[in-house]
Amino acid sequence: MKLNISAASVFSDLRILYHQGKQYIPDVTTVEVPGIFRGRPVISKLDTIGEPIDLRTLEEICPTGAIKSNPVRIDLGRCVFCGECQHKFPSLINFTKDYKISAVRRDDLVIGEGQHQPMVIKPEQVRKEIRKIFKRSLKLRQVSAGGDNSTEWELNASGNVNFDIGRFGIDFVASPRHANGIVITGPITKNMAEPLQICYDAVPHPKIIILAGTDAISAGIHQGSDALDRSFLDNHTVDLYIPGNPVHPLAFINGVLKLIGRK
Ligand code: SF4
Repeated sequence: MKLNISAASVFSDLRILYHQGKQYIPDVTTVEVPGIFRGRPVISKLDTIGEPIDLRTLEEICPTGAIKSNPVRIDLGRCVFCGECQHKFPSLINFTKDYKISAVRRDDLVIGEGQHQPMVIKPEQVRKEIRKIFKRSLKLRQVSAGGDNSTEWELNASGNVNFDIGRFGIDFVASPRHANGIVITGPITKNMAEPLQICYDAVPHPKIIILAGTDAISAGIHQGSDALDRSFLDNHTVDLYIPGNPVHPLAFINGVLKLIGRK
């Protein structure tokens, strides 16, 4: 068969590739996020600020009750990263661009006064079979349990040509039968409680559960709503919490890499 490729079309393609430059992010663990992004907050110690802080206003300003005072702390599992606290009390709270904000234990999502060091996932916190079995290949089924399509959108983006989570052997699959675990997004509505359970049951053992986004972790602004049924979380152990509203692809990728022990 004779290929009809002219030199002009080859040069045209090369010119496009040259202008597009490198599409993928070479190192998704160290790249800096451009533009506005709120990641891990840093809270100054109250006695180092040199100005009085109205702690009652500080708590009241938060739409999800993520901030508590005495000592001041922010629960990333409830925070929607609106930035109001930083806007009102810039000398006390500063959101960094650190996207490595995942945790295996729910309590580790609480950032306290003077806690400046990065968040870490210690190997001993992770179930042994996760790193042993899924380190080189992890297939995930995403369940939008009443989600608003924001975190779902970002999870899709984690597989695009820029973030390319597939390079680590991590992929989203269509069927729970082909999956090693589920990623839950959304606050888990009553309508989605049973489908979520059915989907989880269909995943073969051993399997993992990841909560992606503030809505999934704490229900976010939907806390206390009659439309929710979060009993699934009372009956199952969560392996990874990834805060964000929505979750940034770099937060998702770095969280999963830490969980499975990939460098
Ligand atoms: S950024 Fe988070 S902690 Fe601060 S006010 Fe908004 S929701 Fe509350």
